[in-house]
Amino acid sequence: MPELPEVETIRRQLEPLLTGSKISSIEVLDPLAVAPASPEAFKRRLRGRAITAVRRRGKYLQLELDTQDTLVIHLRMTGTLTYLQLPMPKEERQRLRLLLHLDNGAGLAFHDTRRFGKAFILKAGDSQRYWARLGPEPLDSSFKAAYLGKILDGRTRPIKSLLLDQAMVAGIGNIYADEALYRAHIMPTRPAGDLDDEEIRRLTRSIKATLKKAIDLQGSSIDTYRDSQGRKGSFQETFQVHRRQGEPCPACGTRVEKIRVGGRGTYFCPICQK
Ligand SMILES: [Zn+2]
Repeated sequence: MPELPEVETIRRQLEPLLTGSKISSIEVLDPLAVAPASPEAFKRRLRGRAITAVRRRGKYLQLELDTQDTLVIHLRMTGTLTYLQLPMPKEERQRLRLLLHLDNGAGLAFHDTRRFGKAFILKAGDSQRYWARLGPEPLDSSFKAAYLGKILDGRTRPIKSLLLDQAMVAGIGNIYADEALYRAHIMPTRPAGDLDDEEIRRLTRSIKATLKKAIDLQGSSIDTYRDSQGRKGSFQETFQVHRRQGEPCPACGTRVEKIRVGGRGTYFCPICQK
């Protein structure tokens, strides 16, 4: 599932390719991808529009348009965005949900096997309210230990569940929550409000370090994730605990264990994490 590092990888790749280009036409092959908007209304707001910037908020990709509208793409479980030359080979149109034709002869293809992903248009006036429901960006310089401490204060939920809650912190999913908690030596089941100041400092640092390293390695491809050029990321080759049940902890050699926290498969070292 694409999390912050995967979406940021795609954003960085698409920014120079899309900025300044115009959307000449749109194919909606799966109306569910743009629902509740109708395909006609969706196309009407995009046709002829120039893309002025490519941004990201949490796990959402934002294509800013010259109308001040934003085309938002949420890849969810299995969505991919591919930049390619048109026309597309016929075999690549399988599971294609949406195709933007650009005025430079290229296209942006949204494929999605499980069909949970969404594309929608956010009007300028609705933007601030829409994004306010997400927590802070963990890579922002304003995201500091004192700030995370305030978010955790008094919370009894397991720290891992809290990190996965997009209203608390934006962009972290199952992979990076497990890896960041391992690096911070914190048990995923600890009540969030019980972390002391030193642990909160370690966790803040490890969240940033884990996400930055994952961006450097173009994200993690454990199942369907591919970048906008169709390539896999390689952060999965550096996983310390995630999906390594029964394998030795890189630090102490103890077998990595797997439990469920808030319904999500959770991997940790029973010795290194307290
Ligand atoms: Zn260990």
